[in-house]
Parts: sequence; structure tokens; C-alpha cells
Amino acid sequence: MRVPLLDVPAQNLPLEAEMQAAFLRVFRSGRFILGEEVEMLENQLAGFLGVKHAIGCSSGTDALLVALMAAGIQPSDEVLCPAFTFFATAGCVRRLGAVPVFVDVCARCFNIEPSDAEKKITAKTRAMIPVHLFGQSAAMPELLAIAERHNLVLIEDAAQAFGATSPAGSCGALGLAGITSFFPSKNLGGCGDGGMLFSNDDYFAAKVRMLRNHGAEPKYYHALVGGNFRLDALQAALLAVKVPHYESYTAQRQANAAFYTQELLQHPDFALEQAPCQAESCACSQGGQRQSDPKIILPQTLPDHFHIWNQYTLRVPNGQRDALRQHLAAEGVGHEIYYPLSLDEQTCFSDLPSHCLGPCKTSRRLASEVLSVPIYPELSRDQLSIVAKALIDFCEKN
Ligand SMILES: *Cc1c(COP(=O)(O)O)cnc(C)c1O
Repeated sequence: MRVPLLDVPAQNLPLEAEMQAAFLRVFRSGRFILGEEVEMLENQLAGFLGVKHAIGCSSGTDALLVALMAAGIQPSDEVLCPAFTFFATAGCVRRLGAVPVFVDVCARCFNIEPSDAEKKITAKTRAMIPVHLFGQSAAMPELLAIAERHNLVLIEDAAQAFGATSPAGSCGALGLAGITSFFPSKNLGGCGDGGMLFSNDDYFAAKVRMLRNHGAEPKYYHALVGGNFRLDALQAALLAVKVPHYESYTAQRQANAAFYTQELLQHPDFALEQAPCQAESCACSQGGQRQSDPKIILPQTLPDHFHIWNQYTLRVPNGQRDALRQHLAAEGVGHEIYYPLSLDEQTCFSDLPSHCLGPCKTSRRLASEVLSVPIYPELSRDQLSIVAKALIDFCEKN
């Protein structure tokens, strides 16, 4: 593979000496669960986001689960989720016996469509989980207004967007809770599983801290039924080594995205999505159309957004995605489909009432068109050129 989709060692190896020192410090202390190392990372990241509380968790998924538990989500409560996201967003809702109600997404930014979300609110709707997919914020000003109008709990899934911002502020810092993930392929990737929950609400944060540790406070006295959702000290110590570099990682991802977009837009086969939104429920779907009929549609940063580019996700319309995959494989360019099936079509949700399942037309279309290409910070200029050239060659041949 000339250009892998991901290269985790390329980021970690230059920090090997510092990481070894961090490992030895924790190893020799013998204190592996929560403790000082976790508290230091929590303080570091709370400062970074400008939130009052940051609470280390065993994974992004567990942070989301514990957020829903602390928010008091009950069986049969309805929770609005985008149909186009990683499974965990809706999986956590269902694990509590609550009902994910799938909302269509915007073809331009891949995120939950506010007007469709509002349409799907019923008397049972308790919460909404916008996801800031691929590193760009969902439409938070609109979503915060909807949550306020309908008295919904808002929990942000910022697993792919730690450090991204929208006109409303930092992703993960705007709802009752926000979560992020340290899965190794995320922008702030650990050496294993880990996650963090953010909140500005003192009462809510205290409840999360209890639930993270079996609902106990003090030890062995359980006011709540919680679980083991704790972050390891080792994981926290290793992550803390990377935090000072985080802004430069983001800047490099942004430079890589800008390189692709600049190179590719010089060719008529590439275009940006012009329509403000194509979700079928959205009033603006009658808006502008693309001028040309591009072979590949590029991702874009919306005005006044700080995009951190967890993925650079192309759309390949007209049933050409498989052909492009074959071409990229032959050229040694890594790629992946995030995500191949809209959540409203997943087998595990087929028992949900029909009003939960759609229609999510844009989500289904995206699932059939998207293809992500390498965007990690350590890509060389040569590697970026190989990717861009492979895409251009494909369009010229097809
Ligand atoms: C990665 C991810 C999660 C889950 O994070 P884990 O740490 O892997 O459990 C949740 N939501 C989204 C959108 C993600 O990308």
C-alpha cells in the first residue's frame, strides 16, 4: 500500500520516548484505575474545550451510554438520532430500552437535518443526539433552539469532532453533555479504548461520576445502578503526551484537506455540493443545483465552522463507487466506506415502529455514494499527490 488509509505509528513513534516515560511512571506507581493521571487529562481537556467538567470513560460508546443514563432516559422514551452515523450513537439508546428515531441528514455536511428532526418529535421524545460527523459540527444554533422549544435533552456525539467549532461554540461543550472518543483512529487517538464526557452542569456531572463507578458514593454505598465505565490511568498518561501536539495535528489535517480540494476542483469532474440541503423534508431543498454533473463530489467546510477533518469523504454518484474502489486499490490508495448502511435499514432496528425508521432518503443515498480517502496528519506531499492523481485518473478514464 503506497498510501494507507491510516498510519497510527507515524504519529506515535516520534513520541515514543515520552510515552515510554509516561508508561513507566504509571507502571511503577501501581495505580492503574482513575486517580491522578486521569484527573490531569480531564483538567487538560476541560481547559481545551472551555467546559467545567470532563470525565474520563472507558470508551466513547460508554461515555454516550452513561450520558443517557445520567439524563434519566427510560425504556420507550424516544431519542432523535441521525440515520447516517456510526452505530454507537443509536446502539446506546436501544441498550437502555429507549427508542432511536432516525432523522435524515444534509447532503452537504452529512449531519442531522434540523427541520427533519423537528418534524419527528412526538409526545414521547425526550432527547436528541446530534453527531458532528467526519469532524464538522452539526447545525448547533438550530438544534439548540429546537431542543429548547421542545424541552429536549441535547447530548452531542463529538467522537469525531474534538476541537471542532460551529457558530454556537465548541463541539461537545454545548449540550447537557458532549462525548468524545480516543479510539486510535480518532483525531486524538489513544493506545486502546477510551473516551470522555463533557458537561457544564454540576449536578449532571456528579451523577455521571457516580454512574461511571457502579453508582457508588461513597464506596460500596449505591444510590444508583451504574457500571464500570472508567478510564485507565495508563491510557490517560499516554494521551496526555499527545495533547500538546493536538492543534498541530488538526492544522495538518486541514492543510491536507485544502490540498485535495484545491487540486481536484481544477478539474471539471469534481464539484462541491451546492444545494444548501437536500433532505427531502427540508424547505431549502428547492434551492440551488450543482452547475455541472460531477463524477466526484468533494466535502466542504461550511461558513463559520472549524472543521477538524476526521475523514475526507467523497461522494461518488451514478453507481461508480465500486469502480473507484477498484481503481484506488490498484493504485495502492487506502480507502473505506463510512458508512455503508443507513441506520434505519439495520437488521437490529427492524423491530422498531415504522415512524422511527424514516424516510431517510438522503442518508440512504449517502450510504451508497460515500468513500473516505487518507487524511491523517503525517501524510507526505508525495502521498497526497498520489491520492489526488489517482482520483483524477479515474475520472479521465471513466
Ligand atoms: C468512534 C465513534 C463512537 C464510539 O467511540 P468508541 O470510543 O469507539 O466507543 C461513537 N460515535 C461516533 C460518531 C464515533 O465515530
